[in-house]
Amino acid sequence: MYIGLAIIACSLVYILIITYSYFSKQRVESTETKIYGYMIFLSIISLFFEFLSIILVSNYHILNLVSELVNKGFLISILIWSSLFTHYIYSVSFLENAKKTEIQQKKYQKLVKPFVYLIVILVILIIVFPLEFYSSGEVVYSYGLAIDLLNLTIICMVIAWLIFSLMNYKSLKIKKYLPVFVFIICIIITLIVRNINPELLLINGTISLVTVMMYHTIENPDLKLIHQLNDAKDAAEKANNAKTDFLSNMSHEIRTPLNAIVGFSNGLLEENLSNQATEDVKNIVSASDSLLELVNGILDISKIEANKLEIINMEYSFKKLFDELVVLIKARMADKAIDFRYFYDESIPEYLYGDASRIKQIMINLLTNSVKYTKEGYIDFKINSVVNNDMIRLIMSVEDSGIGIKKENIDKLFTKFERLGVEKETTAEGTGLGLAITKRLVELMNGKIIVQSIIGKGSKFTVSIDQKIVCDDKINKIKNSIETVSKSKTDFSDKKIFIVDDNALNIKVAERLLKIYNVNIESAMSGQECIDKITSGSKYDLILLDDMMPKMTGVETLKKLELIEGFNMPVVVLTANAITGMREKYINDGFDDYLSKPIEKPELDRVIKIYLNK
Ligand code: ADP
Repeated sequence: MYIGLAIIACSLVYILIITYSYFSKQRVESTETKIYGYMIFLSIISLFFEFLSIILVSNYHILNLVSELVNKGFLISILIWSSLFTHYIYSVSFLENAKKTEIQQKKYQKLVKPFVYLIVILVILIIVFPLEFYSSGEVVYSYGLAIDLLNLTIICMVIAWLIFSLMNYKSLKIKKYLPVFVFIICIIITLIVRNINPELLLINGTISLVTVMMYHTIENPDLKLIHQLNDAKDAAEKANNAKTDFLSNMSHEIRTPLNAIVGFSNGLLEENLSNQATEDVKNIVSASDSLLELVNGILDISKIEANKLEIINMEYSFKKLFDELVVLIKARMADKAIDFRYFYDESIPEYLYGDASRIKQIMINLLTNSVKYTKEGYIDFKINSVVNNDMIRLIMSVEDSGIGIKKENIDKLFTKFERLGVEKETTAEGTGLGLAITKRLVELMNGKIIVQSIIGKGSKFTVSIDQKIVCDDKINKIKNSIETVSKSKTDFSDKKIFIVDDNALNIKVAERLLKIYNVNIESAMSGQECIDKITSGSKYDLILLDDMMPKMTGVETLKKLELIEGFNMPVVVLTANAITGMREKYINDGFDDYLSKPIEKPELDRVIKIYLNK
């Protein structure tokens, strides 16, 4: 009897400690934690009943009925504890582990009710069924249908736990199932011990042990910590957004003066300059192009971080893309003693469907790197292909005889801002952003990029990307529209363009670039001024409208223009807000077309020819 009481006392102490630490802490509300809360209470109740029954059973002759009631209370508490444990195992196996789906939820709801009814029936049966005592010497035994029923129920539940565990064997988190196996082993030990020494009732010790164990295996994270983590995450996200906004604004701001530099330089190139001056202007244009690439790179990195980098697929001319790349890289090689060899598979169809500007960006990155990191020797630029129905895999490689990359550095290659100490060996300029962006772009297009390199010998970057082949019907359409633009006249002295921009320099740049078209130009420096002009009856063949203007943005101006009766002039947005996806956004906003700053001459030419020829 004393051993029994000692076990109860120990169990009670540690259950009370667990109860305190469990309920004093904020918890995550889940089916698991809810059930566990009830289980702790039941452990205490059953300890209390067991304590009473040990005291009373020794005097059962006098207090037969009270002993019977206390013993039945004890049996019922064990029954309910076990049924909660069954519920817990079910929830761990089928609700918490897997993502809760609606079907699982419905199945669960369907099962709970009958299970509760069954337990209620069992409780009633335990109350009704007889429980008897008999003494043999000092020891008092309890027996009867009530005990047999409880034993049978627990055996059934143990089988159910094993089935649940086995059904879930793949995602079986051993930690969570540990109490099940411990319980089963302890129950077997309890039965053996009971046969040897009937006085020793270990069942409550087992329950307490399992309850304590569950305290450690249950996923019960500290809510305070979670709140702190969430706050930190929010703060980091806010800071990151602020950075992205800052970078977009900065890129917008840099583009505006860059627009003037590129615009005026391009304008100058059309004048009759001396050879030296032409050379100087070309250098200015090339430096501005590099600067623009850098600004775009910064913007791309901030978009990668904000997960906003997009791929915009359109029909494009593969040959044109290839030629542009070759011209650009030849220009970048300047007077380096490098043999630039290029090749493309003639069987690649002329028109493909994909994001040509992103493919161009990828290849410019790889080719520019080759130029940067190769002093002499060769650069091989090859595009091969594999056709599969209406898809074509472009296998594009850039191989150089440059400084090469150390084996241990190859993995770091695609990490942003990582420059592999080259600045010490070479004079190559760079930011370490190029390859990080390249890799992300290739991934976004479901492609692959492979690097092979031997330090001191050279490197080979191979990119493979799948593109759609454009069907014949569409090709004719594209060809026609290209032909109309290229055949059209360039003298528009009978036409009038209206430029709206809050920045006087930007207006001058546009005027300078439009000079070759002989077109009449008027300008305004605000949205309101533009609206006033139109309402007063001025007619234009094309309006070039800036978006980011103080007081009234271009989009707002357009909305107001559309309200003016009979207004049907083409309006093209001319903006430094040039991040990817902007074209689509502005077209959705109602603009007829989109031009980015710095103004690209071929784009301007396209827009002018389309709208002034109408
Ligand atoms: P950046 O060229 O602006 O430094 P990248 O991300 O394009 O940044 O390249 C990261 C690094 O990878 C470079 O600093 C350089 O060390 C290495 N690298 C890239 N391409 C080559 C190449 N073709 N040959 C040798 N090293 C290269």
